[in-house]
Amino acid sequence: MTSIVHADEAGFFGAHGGRFLPPQLEAPIAEVAAAYAEARNDPEFMAEYEALLSDYVGRPSPLFLAERLTKHFGGARIYLKREDLNHTGSHKINHCLGEVLLAKRMGKTKVLAETGAGQHGVALATAAALLGLECEIHMGAIDIEKQHPNVVRMELLGATVVSVTDGGQCLKDAVDSAFGKFATDWEDTFFAIGSVVGPDPYPTIIRDFQSIVGREMRAQILAKENRLPDVLIACVGGGSNAMGLFTAFLEDDSVRMFGVEPGGKNLDVVGEHAATMTLGSPGMLHGMKTMLLQDSAGDPDAVHSIASGLDYPAVGPQHAHLKDIGRVQYVTASDDETLEAFQLLCRTEGIIPALESAHALVQMAKLAPTMGPDEIIVVNLSGRGDKDIDYVAEKIRG
Ligand SMILES: *Cc1c(COP(=O)(O)O)cnc(C)c1O
Repeated sequence: MTSIVHADEAGFFGAHGGRFLPPQLEAPIAEVAAAYAEARNDPEFMAEYEALLSDYVGRPSPLFLAERLTKHFGGARIYLKREDLNHTGSHKINHCLGEVLLAKRMGKTKVLAETGAGQHGVALATAAALLGLECEIHMGAIDIEKQHPNVVRMELLGATVVSVTDGGQCLKDAVDSAFGKFATDWEDTFFAIGSVVGPDPYPTIIRDFQSIVGREMRAQILAKENRLPDVLIACVGGGSNAMGLFTAFLEDDSVRMFGVEPGGKNLDVVGEHAATMTLGSPGMLHGMKTMLLQDSAGDPDAVHSIASGLDYPAVGPQHAHLKDIGRVQYVTASDDETLEAFQLLCRTEGIIPALESAHALVQMAKLAPTMGPDEIIVVNLSGRGDKDIDYVAEKIRG
């Protein structure tokens, strides 16, 4: 049996996880695993990481009691963990700084990654600029066209953006391209994954660097309420912000947890949602065993979400395990519900959330009215929505 918090020695969380690699990537990933095993136990490394979190990112992020939202639903007290207030506007900077610090410790001069919508690329380019490493981001040609502002940001931050013109010219092709480059360049390059996904030890590395969110929140809620929350809610793409919020509470049975997946336009049509936990099956992708939306040949399905940070056909292996053992409930929020929750938060609290984070607000809106005023919900507000306003305005008008 694996522990509820940690992977076993082979990198498995129950039936999920592991390290499934082509031979040319075995040595480079083994090197990452060995380096992280040392770094995580080095107080100096962790102190450097924590100093950056406070002085550069601006942590601790506030835990905010949303009073007007609470009144609106007339039930549980609703708190928002404000990851949107981090430098660069989301939780992603937490793990990107950790990964670039690890790369530097390993003597690497460059970090390499793929990006879909560009959010991971921007956070990584930021951390690389700060710590003086080169940064190369592979991005599908179609995504480059769609996400122009993020391409500009990455280039301003000194990163090289490589346009991938193979296949469908989207995230999946960018992943293949970046892994290909890593296989030849690994002696001076660190591969920086953007969520709690990929081969062991990445799901553990990214989770550990995100777990600051839940540790901080635990101290904050105890100071404000003198007790633990009843419900935690986070959106799930790959699952890093959710693992960040959940990890410090996994062994507290009284705390219920919800991961919210993108229900998209239609759960009944392949390609119109990204509800991996709800509709997927066990499979293999990006070096891990996990829940996957796949066709009969085991190839990943096309996916859709109104929030580009959530349109991934798989999910981190620890989430798949937490579902198997019933510790976390996984639910969906549709595009339409998400748009409604997005606007509600703007008007009741003066906070424009990321469309990703607005998925978590949908589940909050369903639960809060069913709970009492002495109960507490904490929602991870994983990012700010400035990036989404043009798209949302168009949707509301159209
Ligand atoms: C990327 C992103 C997500 C989804 O990633 P996870 O790994 O599932 O957390 C969620 N919210 C925001 C704001 C993002 O940028």
